[in-house]
Formats: sequence, C-alpha cells, structure tokens
Amino acid sequence: MSDCLFCKICEGQIPAAITFRDEEVVAFKDINPKAPFHQLVIPIRHVSSLATADAKDAALLGKLMLLGARLARESGQADGGFRVVMNAGADAGQTVLHVHLHVLAGRVLGWPPG
Ligand code: AMP
Ligand code: ZN
Repeated sequence: MSDCLFCKICEGQIPAAITFRDEEVVAFKDINPKAPFHQLVIPIRHVSSLATADAKDAALLGKLMLLGARLARESGQADGGFRVVMNAGADAGQTVLHVHLHVLAGRVLGWPPG
C-alpha cells in the first residue's frame, strides 16, 4: 500500500533497524520501545488489522508468532519470559494499520495490560 508506513519500511523507503527479513516477513526494532527488548514482526503483504484478517492470512499470522518467539529465544529473552501482543482496532491502541506483532521482554511485564 503506497501510503502505509510499514509497507514503506518493507520497501526500504523509510529506514528501520531491521533484525530479520525473508520473502514474507520483516522484523525491526520499535522506534519507541516499551521494554528493553521491543521488536515488531510484520508481513510484507499489506494486511490492515487482525480485526479484518481471514482464513487466507492464517499461515502468515502463524509465521509472525513463531518468528516472534524465535527472535526472543535468539536474543536470550525466552528464559525470563517474553510477551507477544497484537493490538487490533483503536480502543486496543492500534495506531499503524498494517498488522504487526509486538515482541516485548527484558523486564517484568505487568498484567493485565492497561
Ligand atoms: P500499535 O500502537 O500497536 O499500532 O504499534 C505501533 C508501533 O509502531 C508503536 O510501538 C510505535 O512505536 C512503532 N513505530 C511507529 N513508527 C515506527 C518506525 N518508523 N519504526 C519503528 N517503529 C515504529
Ligand atoms: Zn502496509
């Protein structure tokens, strides 16, 4: 999508601290981290929100989860624990309308979230 921030990151039009890329997904450090470890995992194909995703997106969404866990593991964050979060919709705090999985770790994470 031409006007989408995260599509532009995938296309290299906007710089980001990319930590992983393959033909389907990209991971990068969150520009405003909410924990010592905070990365975003996104599909290269534009999917606006989990709220509107459907069965054709199932494998891609599963891949985001598994990559999030792998990034946490490979960064030494899996033993202490990590959290994956996907905000869907305005009330949940979704500000970028391109599906993204937050991977957070490196501190004790409160529950329930705000
Ligand atoms: P959400 O509020 O769930 O939509 O999450 C959007 C996330 O994208 C926030 O945590 C932002 O800090 C992050 N973000 C926004 N712009 C950028 C950017 N240019 N590079 C990296 N992360 C970004
Ligand atoms: Zn997009």
